[in-house]
Amino acid sequence: MTQKCIIIGASHAAAQLITSLRQEGWKGDVLVISDEPYLPYHRPPLSKAFLSGEKSSESLVIRPTEFYEKHGVNFVQGRVTAINRQQKILTLGDGKTFTYDKLALCTGARARKIDLRGCHLKGIHYLRDMEDAKSIKANVAKGQHAVIIGGGYIGLETAASLIKLGMQVTVLEAAPRILQRVTAPEMSDFYQRVHSENGVRIHTNVTVTRFGGHDHIEKVLLADGTEFSAHLVVIGVGVEPNVELAEVAGLAVDNGILVDEFCRTNDRSIVAAGDGTNQFNKIYGRRIRLESVPNANAQAKIAAASICDLDKGSATLPWFWSDQYDLKLQIAGLSQGYDEIIFRGDRLTGYNFTAFYLKEGQLIAADCVNRPQDFMLSKKLITQKTIIPLKQLLDDSIPLKTLLLNVS
Ligand code: FAD
Repeated sequence: MTQKCIIIGASHAAAQLITSLRQEGWKGDVLVISDEPYLPYHRPPLSKAFLSGEKSSESLVIRPTEFYEKHGVNFVQGRVTAINRQQKILTLGDGKTFTYDKLALCTGARARKIDLRGCHLKGIHYLRDMEDAKSIKANVAKGQHAVIIGGGYIGLETAASLIKLGMQVTVLEAAPRILQRVTAPEMSDFYQRVHSENGVRIHTNVTVTRFGGHDHIEKVLLADGTEFSAHLVVIGVGVEPNVELAEVAGLAVDNGILVDEFCRTNDRSIVAAGDGTNQFNKIYGRRIRLESVPNANAQAKIAAASICDLDKGSATLPWFWSDQYDLKLQIAGLSQGYDEIIFRGDRLTGYNFTAFYLKEGQLIAADCVNRPQDFMLSKKLITQKTIIPLKQLLDDSIPLKTLLLNVS
């Protein structure tokens, strides 16, 4: 009898899982059930090249239709509302049912919502999927005010795209600095400088209390009474993992679906990969829920192997990127818990440098701005748990490569 693998969700993790399943020798059926009406597409450009008009929606597909046809993959549009693990049956919102032998949860995450007076006015958007990005684009008006709530990567990338499109852009951030959750104060200062050079106004330490307008948003109001005119509002205050389906089905969940190193849940027939999972990371010695394409891809490869009854778990170093203006930021590792930061290059007036994060002399993370080579080498240095002499790390004339070669 042909076995059937069902994948819930059709985004980065799902696209990679499909590819890896066939590579690992899965001969059975593959069915993908997704509530979005698209083939898996690249999500990162939604706040970048797609929003700024440099890329079309068609160009964002991860694989063309022919790829899925060739590999015998079928898609069904719908929302899975229940998993019956005993009988291995899925139920969709419209009542349809599907049986599976193996199940992959690639349900990802959703934008965190804020519940304030006026939050349902037209012109107020979140940015998680293609529909969100299309409706933001439809609301862009040159010369008008855009207010971004949240100074994280998505908020700042959106700000950079909207100012390119000729809008007047203000970013409102509740924390004392932008990017506080993910990076060092020096990096926040750098991005604050770059955004102000490009005309974006950033206000930190502010609390938004309500939105004003009749049918459409007109203004954003702060706790201290300050008002900002707004034709368009984009809220980027983080995401929440889509875990409810798994939780109700009795799978272990704790800020993400809990998976082991092989991306298996506590049900041997069910794996999970991507933003919706929480996994122990050997390099950092703790459980982490990561929100990034590289993680979705890495986990999907492992999950596919597990579906094929192969054990291919391995510790992968988390990495991320963010594009704003002409700056390509590449982040290797997680900087939380660092006790020292060292810079190579000029972060105060330039646009090309690396921030190295150290803990007890050991390199744990690096933020590389327009320095792809530093990024590649940092990944290796971090994975090797390298202790590097500070003097050498500081000296930009000593190629990072030589430090790697010196490591025993
Ligand atoms: P998701 O992309 O979240 O997809 C999950 C899918 O499953 C969704 O389509 C969802 O609707 C569907 N689904 C959920 N539950 C059900 C259900 N019950 N039934 C049917 N379907 C369901 N990452 C980077 O590494 N670099 C970047 O520069 C970057 N930029 C980003 C910019 C934006 C604007 C956004 C939104 C994200 C960005 N990310 C970036 C994050 C990256 O897109 C995510 O890490 C990645 O999409 C995670 O993929 P995933 O497959 O885990 O889940």
